[in-house]
Amino acid sequence: MEFYPLNPWIINISLVLGSIFFVEVVRDIYHVVSHLWSPLYKWHGWHHRVFRPDLTPVSTDIYQKATWYHDVPESLVMFTFSLLFWGTAFVWMSDYHWATWGGVIYTLGFFFPAIGRATGIPKVDQLTDLTHLPGSFLTPPANWFVNRPYHWRHHFDNQNAYFCGTLTLVDKLMGTALSLKGKTVAVTGASGSLGQSLLKHLDRAGAKVIALTSKDRTITLDINGKNLEINTIKWQIGQEEKLAELFEKVDILVLNHGINVHGERTAEAIAKSYEINTFSSWRMLEIFLKTVRKNSDIACKEVWVNTSEAEVNPAFSPLYELTKRTLGDLVTLRRLDAPCVIRKIILGPFKSNLNPVGIMSADWVAKQIIKLAQADVRTIIVTINPLTFVAIPIKDFFVSTYFKLFSSK
Ligand SMILES: [Zn+2]
Ligand SMILES: [Zn+2]
Repeated sequence: MEFYPLNPWIINISLVLGSIFFVEVVRDIYHVVSHLWSPLYKWHGWHHRVFRPDLTPVSTDIYQKATWYHDVPESLVMFTFSLLFWGTAFVWMSDYHWATWGGVIYTLGFFFPAIGRATGIPKVDQLTDLTHLPGSFLTPPANWFVNRPYHWRHHFDNQNAYFCGTLTLVDKLMGTALSLKGKTVAVTGASGSLGQSLLKHLDRAGAKVIALTSKDRTITLDINGKNLEINTIKWQIGQEEKLAELFEKVDILVLNHGINVHGERTAEAIAKSYEINTFSSWRMLEIFLKTVRKNSDIACKEVWVNTSEAEVNPAFSPLYELTKRTLGDLVTLRRLDAPCVIRKIILGPFKSNLNPVGIMSADWVAKQIIKLAQADVRTIIVTINPLTFVAIPIKDFFVSTYFKLFSSK
């Protein structure tokens, strides 16, 4: 076959990278199947028996057994598929089939170390089994490449999520890049329409929800047709410190409260808007980040901050824009060295008490937020305005680069 307009180097490099990418996807699918299909789980289950929560192996014997039953067959499956990839290239793109040896050689780079670990050659485990190394986690779970905190969750948070071994793409596509099952999630602004919808969809995703509200009422949720009261905690602006004890037990904090003074521009309106929209959220964020200490906190704790589309677009309410932009920029600044994952939630106009003419429904918006979080999207954008999808990443990139250059830890 002729690929005349393309430079052969580009084709060769693409095929080397493509063959490696392909075997990585094969690895992750093999892992998913190992969990779904019980004959394979009988083997793979050994991998889940090896480690203690601090990632030290229970015993050398079990470590070696698990390597024979999981790592070695996994690399052989990858090897087989890398040969199929090469065979396909040999038939269809015979001029370029050599490049697909990249994938074959790459899989052998997993097969031989696996044999080394299975037979107990000293040091091979420390040099080649990088996602299972014990020791303190230095960064939160990574977004695109699997690091130790990312994989730790597959062992100790939820075995039916976080399947990926090197690239996180398969988990992102399956919605298993973040598991909400059993997690304690506290949502502020719980009396509002979005707050209630978020609580509902978080509950559906298996989370234990806590409603944080400044109103004097217990929040109820429609769960399977029944109106059930949920754990509701009353708090007040300026008294965020009182929530410190609660935050110790919270896995995910969703900062979703806010006020819109619309056309007001008095001194009181300015003070109120900054206090509620910016500083109370920022204080809560800082109090929560102090609760991130152990490896399990670094791996599982998260903050989601609803900063709004007003970060880049007019909201026809100057004080809403100013205060939400400041909050957005503070989150960008703190994300640079936060000990856990911080997600931004950027929403377009949805129907609520703050905005009765919104187009999207709060329920639909909440559902999308949960879906995108499960795909581990770090800046969650739900809007009907296509400009936001372009403007937010550009703004985030330049602002965070600027902050990185002109500030230090
Ligand atoms: Zn593992
Ligand atoms: Zn597994």
